[in-house]
Amino acid sequence: MRIAERMNRIEASPSSMGRQRARELRESGRDVLSLTTGEPDFDTPLHVQHAVTRAMAEGDTKYTDPGGTPALKEAVRQKLKRENQLDYAMSEIVISTGAKQVVYNALMSTLEEGDEIVVPAPYWVSYPDVARLAGAIPVEVQCPAESGFKLQPADLDRAITPRTRWLILNAPNNPSGAMYSRDELKALTNVLMRHSQVALMTDDIYEHIRYDGREFVTALNVEPALRDRTLVVNGVSKAYAMTGFRIGYGAAPAALINAMVKIQTQSTSNPSSIGQAGAIAALNGPQESVKKNTAIFESRRNRVVEALNAAPGVKCHRPEGAFYAFASCEALLGKRTPQGKVIATSSDFVLYVLDAANVAMLQGEVYGVEGFFRISFAASMEVLDECCSRIARACAELR
Ligand code: PLP
Repeated sequence: MRIAERMNRIEASPSSMGRQRARELRESGRDVLSLTTGEPDFDTPLHVQHAVTRAMAEGDTKYTDPGGTPALKEAVRQKLKRENQLDYAMSEIVISTGAKQVVYNALMSTLEEGDEIVVPAPYWVSYPDVARLAGAIPVEVQCPAESGFKLQPADLDRAITPRTRWLILNAPNNPSGAMYSRDELKALTNVLMRHSQVALMTDDIYEHIRYDGREFVTALNVEPALRDRTLVVNGVSKAYAMTGFRIGYGAAPAALINAMVKIQTQSTSNPSSIGQAGAIAALNGPQESVKKNTAIFESRRNRVVEALNAAPGVKCHRPEGAFYAFASCEALLGKRTPQGKVIATSSDFVLYVLDAANVAMLQGEVYGVEGFFRISFAASMEVLDECCSRIARACAELR
């Protein structure tokens, strides 16, 4: 079977592949602990589970409108108003099979061959690859740890060309956990106000998972004038521990939403009916689980950052949100393993830790940054403690 040329432009999602590799090693008898996963390790709230059972019993098991059920769109509309002070009409909202499909459909609907999108690095792995699949060129802008992994306005300005179609902002960020203050966001939107050809995608999926009492601000809160060229992306996967439900949503001007729905009519038809029923319960129901889970994530964040910073050669920035630690192993590059192999890249380091210490993590390269590694703290404190001591031991053995 001949595979299309465009498939050579992209890689399989490294986090999905990392998860699979860790499982295979475990099944082969190795005591591998995996910190690769991007999903909360908590149960989906009971009231959501009950809503789904009820929906099935009531026959809510058929195709829905391609862009989502009116009831869920209304719940999203209310959520955006209540929590984000954003006002959208029903025609400006789409429900999709995960936030990932929102991103995919938006890029597919708008990018032409040779167009560019600006992606601050470190970035969520899918943005550049989906852009490449659409024939566009991802322009990566490095956001170093010294500036808190945050995009700087001058760097954004320099990256924009007449072919730039999108800036993708994701905060709290996967993998760095970085968040923007109002002033920082305003400085970035000021740049966009000078470049009317650039649309803004704000991926707010980790909105609720933030620490130290930080406020969540999305770009439209500081620059409402960007509304007619902004797509707000969000979903229930991370906040409500509902990754398997595959429900995400987007809010944008109707012309973009219509194009995105058109793709759904020809690809997935509609997001799952029972998934949507669960998402309505999540958005409209009690929010206690979100607070409770975030507090647990925060105490894990504190422990993991401290433990990683105690490991020889590792330096870990303190994430402000999301549930990942993105740590530097730059000081270890060039060292040798006990077997004499040189650790030249963060991929070498991650492979070494997997081989020597049975801990699966992901290398910074996949997020567009060399010299770093990501661990997810969506795991119990016992597992995290054990992993951090294994990592520290492996680091201490490098010469
Ligand atoms: N955006 C970011 C930044 C993510 O990290 C993820 C998942 O890892 C997604 C979007 C996709 O979320 P969903 O499970 O809703 O497709």
